[in-house]
Amino acid sequence: MIVMKFGGTSVANYDAITRMISIVRGRLGEKPVVVVSALSKVTDLLYKIADEAAARDMKDAMDLLSQLRERHISLAKELMPDNSVLCGQACDKVNAICDELESFVSAVCAVGELSARSKAIIISNGEYLSSNIICYAMNASGIRTGFMDARKMIVTDDDYLKGEPDMNVIAERVPGIVSAAYEGADAVITQGFVSATAAGEPTVLGRGGSDYSASLIGMAVDATRIEIWTDVDGVKTADPRRVMNTRSLDKISFEEAAEMAHFGAKVLHPLTIEPAVRKNIPIYVLNSMNPEGRGTAILQNSFIEDGVKSVSCKENIFVINIFSTKMINTSGFLKRVFEIFSEYKVSVDLISTSEANISVTVDSSQNIDAVVAALSEFADVYVDSDKSQVSVIGKNIINLKGLLEQTFAPLRECKIYMISQGASYVNISFVVDRTVLNDVVQQIHKYLFEK
Ligand code: ADP
Ligand code: ASP
Ligand code: MG
Repeated sequence: MIVMKFGGTSVANYDAITRMISIVRGRLGEKPVVVVSALSKVTDLLYKIADEAAARDMKDAMDLLSQLRERHISLAKELMPDNSVLCGQACDKVNAICDELESFVSAVCAVGELSARSKAIIISNGEYLSSNIICYAMNASGIRTGFMDARKMIVTDDDYLKGEPDMNVIAERVPGIVSAAYEGADAVITQGFVSATAAGEPTVLGRGGSDYSASLIGMAVDATRIEIWTDVDGVKTADPRRVMNTRSLDKISFEEAAEMAHFGAKVLHPLTIEPAVRKNIPIYVLNSMNPEGRGTAILQNSFIEDGVKSVSCKENIFVINIFSTKMINTSGFLKRVFEIFSEYKVSVDLISTSEANISVTVDSSQNIDAVVAALSEFADVYVDSDKSQVSVIGKNIINLKGLLEQTFAPLRECKIYMISQGASYVNISFVVDRTVLNDVVQQIHKYLFEK
């Protein structure tokens, strides 16, 4: 069995879905479990609808909802012009989902209050729409396809917008649901991103979470391979939207991929690697617009050579600087500091310390004010914004002669606010002003990869 995940651009429209179905057709012998994202930009649209509802702007919310319905209905008709029965069923399904969403959004508008729980319900509709249409289109194309509801498989805690999966429950539930859906079928399909609590309350895995869904399902069914189909030729030496002349990497290690994803490479959701590593399942990142391409294989460390693989970045981060003379010669200070981060669920990326100072970076402003208030009770705290974080990633990069020189030469002219190197020698990261980010990343890429 294999898992095949198709991202938003890989299911964006008629052409993309037709290509996607032919890619799946080529893998039927391997029993694919297909995981799909919402059509490109649909999740953004749903976020907007949720915001309009919260602002009690009924008219704008309803206008956006009609666009949503229109796009999916015309897609269904385009995909199944010769099969009036399945096309009719697909359109009925789209209408039913959109009707229910409209009533829900009207209710939110009436109250003018949007809880995280309501938001999770609204934003998960993109994946229900896409997976239903694609399931009907696959059946219409002759691939008998079973439909599965991800809310019955991907069980999380009650953090509605960023649910934390319960791996044991998922591993227990998924195989039975997949084999039931496979009865009399050639393939099965489900939604990425979507999840629910054990009690069945809707949650989602966070932006870009469909990759994570695919790897959780892969782990649960003991897949021989997880394929992440996207819009670039695999994992590259840098984000091709930021840097020209990037190269695709043939293979990287789980650890390198996890560091890249965690430190800003949007091509994979940061948590995708973890479930795959548990079962040592290779992940392939492939281009749905170039299905013959090799893509990138993400494999166990022993198959991977040492060396620098990529430069990643996070454009908008915050540096929290904590000063206290009490830190000197006292144990327990760090514990007190990090307990506060943990209490407010703020996750820390980089840390550096000196005699009377700790600096940490975080990549979201959520709960920062609360953390700063709590820290300020026993330390002086100030937050630097408009900063970016750049990471050079590769296996055993510490052994590379001249790496530091090549990494830091382009930085001669700019301020570096923090430097951090993990003990696993996979990653050297530093913080610069946001205004110089593009220049810094391009220069470093040139020094490291364009010789
Ligand atoms: P999908 O909708 O298929 O999940 P995403 O937009 O989430 O696609 O991820 C693919 C995008 O990730 C690429 O278009 C590219 O711009 C970006 N990206 C960032 N860093 C990298 C990298 N190192 N290698 C490849 N793509 C990257
Ligand atoms: N549709 C969701 C998003 O746009 C999940 C995903 O595409 O991975 O964030
Ligand atoms: Mg993605």
